[in-house]
Amino acid sequence: MSKEYSLGIDLGGTKIAAGLCEGEKILKKVVFPTSASNGTQHILNTMIDAAEQAMDGHTVDNILGIGIGAAGQINSETGEVIYSPNLNWYNVPLAASLESKFKIPVKVLNDVRAATVAEQKFGNGKGYDSFANIFVGTGVGSGFVINGRLVNGATNSAGEIGHICMDPEGPLCGCGKKGCLEAYCSGTGLENYVKSELLKGTKSIISLMTEGSTELVKGPIIGKAAEQGDELALRAIKRVGYYLGIGIANIHTLLNPDVVLIGGGMTALKQYYMPTLLETMNTYILPVAGKSEHLIKEAKFENDAVLLGGAAIFL
Ligand SMILES: [Zn+2]
Repeated sequence: MSKEYSLGIDLGGTKIAAGLCEGEKILKKVVFPTSASNGTQHILNTMIDAAEQAMDGHTVDNILGIGIGAAGQINSETGEVIYSPNLNWYNVPLAASLESKFKIPVKVLNDVRAATVAEQKFGNGKGYDSFANIFVGTGVGSGFVINGRLVNGATNSAGEIGHICMDPEGPLCGCGKKGCLEAYCSGTGLENYVKSELLKGTKSIISLMTEGSTELVKGPIIGKAAEQGDELALRAIKRVGYYLGIGIANIHTLLNPDVVLIGGGMTALKQYYMPTLLETMNTYILPVAGKSEHLIKEAKFENDAVLLGGAAIFL
């Protein structure tokens, strides 16, 4: 019996999505809540249930392997999750656990790196020798393909663009350091900036929209305020573009890729930040790397990028 399918799993902090894939086609997809508070074994069991349901009556004889994109630090050679704050996991032998159950190859990548494989094989990175794929959402992550190969790095941490330092005296990042790109450009960074400005007394319709509760200051509300021309909202989103532009200029200067792809929830606000992003990118990029809006493209895949990329590891 020929093996024609592969199985992709997106292991996130809130949901586990598994899909049976044939190339870039998802034939069957199931989604379960992660329930990280129920512990490691519960999550592993949920993944097994999800994988079995996604197989949709096929046996492992038809499946090349299971590819997992997981939030956190991954050893992609051993398939171990070194540390995942979202799952509350330390040193979990994820690939080995699923291999012993299904008896087919299991590979694990960091989730953004898996999404990068999807862009490389089927998405907007296809046809490029070298590109970066930046995910700007609650956090900021990235994956790099150089000379056609996904870059892992010596300790599998290549691509932690969210934690390059933009200013050692900058705002506090989730990683504990100050001034990381993520502390400026993630949804969390955007929200924190708006909150701090509101607490300083900056006038904004966001105060009315949230009835003065800074807890309710979230990306979509900031977006709605920007739509209405709110000065603080527009300034805060442009600030995201400013720092993202510098970060992307640095990527082009350092690695000279064909293109940098941008994906993630923050792209919903791109109309407000893209002009600033292009301006700062063109200001800070080394001229030999080029100065062009074509150095940036949107990522193709949204919600299914990690799942597709996991499955694509075997293609
Ligand atoms: Zn950081």
